[in-house]
Amino acid sequence: MSADTPMMQQYRRIKDQQRDAILFFRLGDFYEMFFHDAKEAAAVLGLTLTQRNGVPMCGVPYHAANTYIPRLLRAGKKIAICEQTQLPAAGSKLATREVTQVISPGIITEQDFLDSNRDNYLVAVCRQATELCMAWIDISTGRFELHSYPWEQAVPGLRQELARLAPRELIVQESLLETPVGEVLRSSRDVVVNRYPDWLFSVEESYRRLTDYFGTTNLRGFGLDENDPGLAPAGIVLEYIQENAGSRLSHVNSIGKLRDGDFVPLDEATQRNLELVENLQDGGTEFTLFRVLNYTETAMGARALARWLKQPLRRIDPICDRQQRVAQLYHHQTTLSEIRECIAGARDLERLGSKIGMGRCNPREMEAVGATLAVVLQLQDLLARQPELLPVFPVARESGEAARKLHALIAHAIADNPPTTPGDGGCIRTGFDAEVDRLRQLHDNSGEILQDYIRKLQQETGIPSLKVKYNRILGHFIEVTRTHRDKVPESFIPRQSLTQSDRFTTTELNRIESSLNSAEQNLIDRELEVYADVRSQVEDELAELQRIAALLGELDALQSLAQAATIHGYVQPRLDSSRKLSISGGRHPVVEQHLPPGDFVPNSVELSEPRFALITGPNMAGKSTYLRQAALIVLMAQIGSFVPANDAHIGVVDNLFCRVGARDNLARGESTFLVEMSETAHILRTSSDRSLIIMDEVGRGTSSTDGQAIAHAVCDYILNHIRARTLFATHYHQLSMIEHPDFTNLSLSVVENGSDIVFLREIQDGPSNHSYGIQAARLAGVPKAIIAAAEQFLLQMEPENQGELPRMVSPADPAAVPAAAPPDSLFSVETEAADMLRNTDPDSITPLQALQLVAQLREKL
Ligand code: ADP
Repeated sequence: MSADTPMMQQYRRIKDQQRDAILFFRLGDFYEMFFHDAKEAAAVLGLTLTQRNGVPMCGVPYHAANTYIPRLLRAGKKIAICEQTQLPAAGSKLATREVTQVISPGIITEQDFLDSNRDNYLVAVCRQATELCMAWIDISTGRFELHSYPWEQAVPGLRQELARLAPRELIVQESLLETPVGEVLRSSRDVVVNRYPDWLFSVEESYRRLTDYFGTTNLRGFGLDENDPGLAPAGIVLEYIQENAGSRLSHVNSIGKLRDGDFVPLDEATQRNLELVENLQDGGTEFTLFRVLNYTETAMGARALARWLKQPLRRIDPICDRQQRVAQLYHHQTTLSEIRECIAGARDLERLGSKIGMGRCNPREMEAVGATLAVVLQLQDLLARQPELLPVFPVARESGEAARKLHALIAHAIADNPPTTPGDGGCIRTGFDAEVDRLRQLHDNSGEILQDYIRKLQQETGIPSLKVKYNRILGHFIEVTRTHRDKVPESFIPRQSLTQSDRFTTTELNRIESSLNSAEQNLIDRELEVYADVRSQVEDELAELQRIAALLGELDALQSLAQAATIHGYVQPRLDSSRKLSISGGRHPVVEQHLPPGDFVPNSVELSEPRFALITGPNMAGKSTYLRQAALIVLMAQIGSFVPANDAHIGVVDNLFCRVGARDNLARGESTFLVEMSETAHILRTSSDRSLIIMDEVGRGTSSTDGQAIAHAVCDYILNHIRARTLFATHYHQLSMIEHPDFTNLSLSVVENGSDIVFLREIQDGPSNHSYGIQAARLAGVPKAIIAAAEQFLLQMEPENQGELPRMVSPADPAAVPAAAPPDSLFSVETEAADMLRNTDPDSITPLQALQLVAQLREKL
């Protein structure tokens, strides 16, 4: 294909309209890709890149496109399908080609292209005055929400939401890319990013669009005020899906606002470090908490569980309510097994709902809706026998009635094993519609008439092997093998000659065929009509179906937690509003699964009085495991789950941080140290005395003197100002000398055995007196010569090895109490804070000074 052929010109013209998509250009039996598209697709799909006349190209067979498209979508690509819509006109060699479909990761609804276990979000982000506003929609389920952050928290806020939602596609206000937020947006990988000009984001315009769309006079019913800045991106996502989905969207029938107080916000680092739904190695689910707790039987349940894990509850009542429901299931093991068995028959009603809402539900999917409603009715019967369990599946009366009605409708209307396309016939069950029955009988009769006719022909001609066959080109025809050629009567009209046989028709056969065809066509027309009617009756109850789907997903997630508790031997934690954290015999839910039974050493966590524990001990002693175990147990408790422990008493936390030091952030193009410091600053800014802070090796991204000083300053700040429950693991043994009433030392016990060490994995009071780095290196198989050299070096270093630390004081010490706020100042605190920032040269201060500055700023505000 040379660069200036008419076809290449056609390609360029079409590609110009689809700059941000990979263009699948139909050429015969292949979709071909050219130039940059070809290079990208070849890399993602592992195809061979070829060249023709200097043009890079690659292709996929058209019938296999559906196996390649999901992989491109997952890699964050949009795909435009360009088909040959008209064969070449006489005298021309060029077929007409048009883009028939644009498939974008944020607007897909086909099961084949979706990952059934994860939500599929399209997110819009913009700045409105002093807020960062976001709205997201999952078109495959109809979930539509919005949220805003004060601009000062835009970066961590956005990181947090992007980590939680894991969107497939973004719509970004152009000017945002010039702000610090831009870096976060640019660093999101495998996501389609659409840039929109600033003026499109308007609260007023969006308010009008949303009220129009929902057909309401205002948005108060959804808890939204007319000036809510979050409306701006919400209007944009709605517009985007309306324009691109190519159908109506009756399943998108509400919008919700995320309320800050409802959930424990988990910043990006915490979500990542706790490996809740994705692991750190490859982003898969192996070695994640999700994997350990996931005994769901449906995709709706799996998605609900993943959502719960990323959004632990913050208020005591909803937590206890959910925990109660898990406990009920846990204590009724027989019913639990029955529910599990029953719910396994449910299909993805949430996503089937989107098919209904978009008018795309085919008969086979309709059958799946019916099968799921049968499950709903069974579950209701099952629970009616056990009234104390009713709260696990609280289907409202209206929803129950809708379920019964639609179940009966679908069971009567839709045939067993219906086709995927209603036009293929056979989708309406006999007995449902008199007209369908009549036409079907007529059709079947015509079949019989044909059979009679064949028998008659066989007798008249004396050709027993005479057959009537059918193909698309000839329709019905008579086939006679060559051996009987001489017996063919004159009335047979020749149609086609093959090597072994000849094909004929007769006037009678033509007549039978046309009556057969018209019976068939009439039958199909009527079936389509009846199916459309059934579909619209189902659509009328869509909101109820969606409510049922949400409850099914929830029930599945609840039973999954009860099942996990049963299988892994968890206990029901006691929760209250105290500031207690008392776990006895706690285990790390994920690590224990990967050790032989009984090998995990349980450890207690006591962070009530004192509430700050510094943990020292050599590498590999089990510090990180201990730290994360505490965080995971609290998190599990706050999603309503039972926990891996002998007993747990937990004062509900308002914030949970899990910060791990020194990690390679090069991939993101940020220095490790800067990331570490900005995450630390974020923790110090947002936590309270109700929070749980887990810090592992903070301060290691810089020189050891600076690092130690930073770690010390952070401990000081937490102890004296935040007073959160804290577990702080460190290599800086000097920190163990901190004296403060809220401070305690813990270490993981190690016994020495000659020059070797044995890790007991038991937590004990008091600091570790040795870091055993060299022994650990020996255990890890570092060559003997290196170990010997290290020991030598250590001996030489010994006297200087003790760093000096600033004295740590308790608030009881008057010198330690932060200077009281200055008397009424001429300036507002904000102005003073802004001045302090302006007068600071970030390039000339040390990391420690930076951190102290953060502390001072917080003090001011
Ligand atoms: P550290 O953070 O002190 O370097 P880790 O927490 O990474 O140590 O633990 C090192 C290894 O020890 C882990 O891979 C884990 O398999 C094992 N381990 C940790 N805690 C326990 C425990 N309580 N019981 C049994 N094995 C444990």
